[in-house]
Amino acid sequence: MPETAEPRLVLATRNAGKLREFRELLRGQVPGLDVDTQVIDAAAAGAPDVPETGVTFEENSLLKARSVAAATGLVAVADDSGLTVDVLGGAPGIFSARWSGRHGDDEANLRLVLDQLADIDEVHRGAAFVCAASVVSVGSENVTRGELRGSLLRAPRGDGGFGYDPILMPTGTTRSCAELSATEKNEISHRGQAFRALLPHIVNALR
Ligand code: IMP
Repeated sequence: MPETAEPRLVLATRNAGKLREFRELLRGQVPGLDVDTQVIDAAAAGAPDVPETGVTFEENSLLKARSVAAATGLVAVADDSGLTVDVLGGAPGIFSARWSGRHGDDEANLRLVLDQLADIDEVHRGAAFVCAASVVSVGSENVTRGELRGSLLRAPRGDGGFGYDPILMPTGTTRSCAELSATEKNEISHRGQAFRALLPHIVNALR
């Protein structure tokens, strides 16, 4: 196999949608990097699952990237994200995926947040999606953060997206995140911001 076909970068995820988005972000950005064959996910790289034992998005993102970089010897990129609600003191935060007690049950997680805010006025329904993205390679670590602020609706709206998208209406818009197209959301999203800020560090790590 020619050297250029060897994987060079691992995204610490098992989520096919995240890998697809990440490849599009990188496409054409790194001379000589074939994103379709040289950017792979954690499963393809044979990297083990990483316990998320940190208490911040940044810590968890770095833990994942460090572990995958150590297991594979490749440059590793990871992210950690969630919803932070002002009147809940920043919760669900790093526990967003399992807020209802059922990991990955988006509907139950969203319903619990709506119930918790049932008696809260519009003016106090501020919240944000937060994402920390990191890149780890031999001898270097970088982490970036993105935030999408908005307010929580009283009922879900829209069919797009995932997770809490149907109940967060970004500031300055009249639609929920689930009513935005993937491109519209990516332009303003916490994940889009964090990964765009990480891009120069990824390019450096691959030099
Ligand atoms: P993870 O970082 O992909 O594991 O995301 C953690 C959890 O945060 C997800 O399961 C969702 O509940 C929530 N979350 C993160 N990003 C978003 C988003 O863009 N929209 C809606 N929910 C999100």
